[in-house]
Amino acid sequence: MSKLKIGVCGGGIGGFSAAIALRKSGHDVQVFERAAGFNRVGADINLTPNAVFALDQLGVGEYLRKTAARPTFRISRDGVTGEETSRLPMSTAAEEKYGAPQLTIHRADLLKALQAQLPEEVVHPGMSVSDVALKDDGATIIFEDGNKRDFDVVIGADGIHSAVRTALWGADSPEFTGIVSYRAVFPRENAPDSPDTDAFTKWWGEVPEKQIVTFPLTLGQEIFVFATTPQTDWSEEGWTLPGDVNELRAEYENFHPNARALLDACDEVTKSALHVRKPMAQWSRGAATILGDAAHPMVPFMAQGACMAIEDAVVLSRALDGVSRDGVEAALQRYEAARKPRTAKVQENSLANEWMKKGGNADWVYGYDAWSVALT
Ligand SMILES: Cc1cc2nc3c(=O)[nH]c(=O)nc-3n(C[C@H](O)[C@H](O)[C@H](O)COP(=O)(O)OP(=O)(O)OC[C@H]3O[C@@H](n4cnc5c(N)ncnc54)[C@H](O)[C@@H]3O)c2cc1C
Repeated sequence: MSKLKIGVCGGGIGGFSAAIALRKSGHDVQVFERAAGFNRVGADINLTPNAVFALDQLGVGEYLRKTAARPTFRISRDGVTGEETSRLPMSTAAEEKYGAPQLTIHRADLLKALQAQLPEEVVHPGMSVSDVALKDDGATIIFEDGNKRDFDVVIGADGIHSAVRTALWGADSPEFTGIVSYRAVFPRENAPDSPDTDAFTKWWGEVPEKQIVTFPLTLGQEIFVFATTPQTDWSEEGWTLPGDVNELRAEYENFHPNARALLDACDEVTKSALHVRKPMAQWSRGAATILGDAAHPMVPFMAQGACMAIEDAVVLSRALDGVSRDGVEAALQRYEAARKPRTAKVQENSLANEWMKKGGNADWVYGYDAWSVALT
């Protein structure tokens, strides 16, 4: 088996998934993460069946299921009248149809489950990447402290403000969408009495900038709430800040009482700006490429950002499977050719914010199999 030396920049969902998958193919992988440790902030990840299927084959599934919740349905409701506009069975029905259920999990628990698959010496926290230099026989990662490390392949999994993307393709700024999101987690016993508590439910507003999404977390013991509001600009320092729950409730005064009750149950909220970029023409250059939000950041209205990063990781590992140094550039081209059309379509559909509003066929998203999709 050929063994490549691979440097992964960013120890987030995409970077860890890539490291696990590439190690399974026998490569020597090192992950460099800017943060010194994780914060357990009130953030969720909704993993739809396509991502759970990918993670199950990576051997992460059992660990995920120790803390994840398993929503019963995916329900859409009109935010004002409360009328149900679509209902898709998830849980066992999704497992039968797609080979995996939908799982909703605390982001910190997902990262813990992924990191548990990696030996300690593979992950290097507190190492911030500032640049990547391409060479004839690989690529060099340059760190903020001036240190350099050579690799056969470099992968930028360093999120929406990716230093690797800038190194490969030049600087450009993500666009503010004019929408801010609020997130909160509260104990299940504080949840309003509702038959929807164990479902993923989206309450659609009269404008695409307004919606409330709720689902269970942590084996159903906690409830997560996500809501958005329009905002003309984002000039605040930082990307996630404490939010004002009263300001949020005021925006939803015209919503159905069952939806407003969800906001009433929130004690504290965080507030984040939603940014996007347009689909890119190319991802890879020489022996370096990008994945996840570094390549295709999207608004969270289809809950696919992390799912796409996980799919990228699997397809990239398959493209590099059995490849020696001479074949790296062609393998990276195979990877991006397989992934770009799908991620661009999901970026565009997320922005349109109509996904499953009135029902429809979810198979093209949930039925994708990253382990067998063609690589040409
Ligand atoms: C409000 C909201 C809700 C969301 N909900 C969902 C959802 O339900 N389902 C879903 O699938 N997606 C969701 N997403 C999207 C999802 O969070 C992202 O798409 C996903 O985290 C992308 O993973 P990533 O690994 O590419 O990037 P990130 O998760 O951003 O990870 C990048 C990592 O790189 C590190 N890093 C950054 N710069 C450097 C550097 N210079 N050097 C070294 N390390 C660096 C960062 O510290 C981080 O650990 C949501 C997003 C938002 C904003």
